Amino acid sequence: MVTLEFILDGPYTSACLHPIPHTISPYSHMMESCSDSTPVSPPFNDPDADLIIRTSDGVDFRVYKLIMKQASPVFREMFTFPRGSQLNNSVVEVAERSRVWDYILRMLYPVGRAPSAPDPADYWPLLEAAKKYDMAGVREAVKHAMMVPAVLKTDALMTYALACVYGLPDAARAAAKASFQPWPGDGRPPLCIPEMQCMAVMAYHRLSRYRWACVEAATACAESSDLFRSETRWNGKSNVIHWPEWITALQKSTKCGARCPPSRAHKDSGLRAYIDDYIDRSIKSLRVEPSGQVVATTDAIGPILKAANVCFDCSQKIGSDAIVRFANVYAQRIDAAVAMVTLEFRLDGP
Ligand SMILES: [Zn+2]
Repeated sequence: MVTLEFILDGPYTSACLHPIPHTISPYSHMMESCSDSTPVSPPFNDPDADLIIRTSDGVDFRVYKLIMKQASPVFREMFTFPRGSQLNNSVVEVAERSRVWDYILRMLYPVGRAPSAPDPADYWPLLEAAKKYDMAGVREAVKHAMMVPAVLKTDALMTYALACVYGLPDAARAAAKASFQPWPGDGRPPLCIPEMQCMAVMAYHRLSRYRWACVEAATACAESSDLFRSETRWNGKSNVIHWPEWITALQKSTKCGARCPPSRAHKDSGLRAYIDDYIDRSIKSLRVEPSGQVVATTDAIGPILKAANVCFDCSQKIGSDAIVRFANVYAQRIDAAVAMVTLEFRLDGP
């Protein structure tokens, strides 16, 4: 009863479900100024300005060529042509909407209010404009906005897709790591978002491989018999076994009875069976999100404390501080294992 959805996808065009029009050539849009456009706020209503940037929704931004030439090699070249340098009050029609150019110009202008972080819906048109007009500053600003944890939490897949298309490896890696929260490791694939249409299938495959490798690394760490290990140290007379303090704090009391059996998975550690239960539960959580934080939550730790309290001797010896410390070290081990997994990043061609 399960059927494969089959759609004949056309080649990617920037018009796909997203208001990015086709590439424009600014040179072909030089024309005389007209005055029936939507008014804008200062400083982009300056009557002395020598250039109008007219957006696709009919807003005229009055700006100075000098600033545009400094910000964009494309604008510099545009006004290097003899005809461009002689035009006063000339107009460049651009393909983007006014909110995109409002952000770009407020970034470039030394006066007026600085722009607040762009809306995630504008990341794509901003990155496209940054590429089209060769504005590295705009590209960097969008990259930093995309890497804010709150954005990654909700828009990790979109950030990953755009980072792959526009060559932002740092953002791609941060987004790949953050993708587990909105899209759990064992969860169903996410719904299609418009930005996925611009991402190469190889980029999506690399993300899938990375997510799988992170889950494997985290669970392998949790299942390793070496997880709780002692060291042999020379005390001046002989070698003695030394257990780190985060483990000794949870090792058995000499009086633990039959209701408090020893760990099955870590027989020599002196830990009790309730630690095995905790590790088993943590492995299930790590399959959903391979991150140390999931093994150190109150929900993860609470049952250890409850189980330890069943044994009179453990309840006398083991406090919540010791359990939290134990969980935190365990979480660090998980994070260290996952950090060894690297996302392969490539700028895919068309
Ligand atoms: Zn006990």
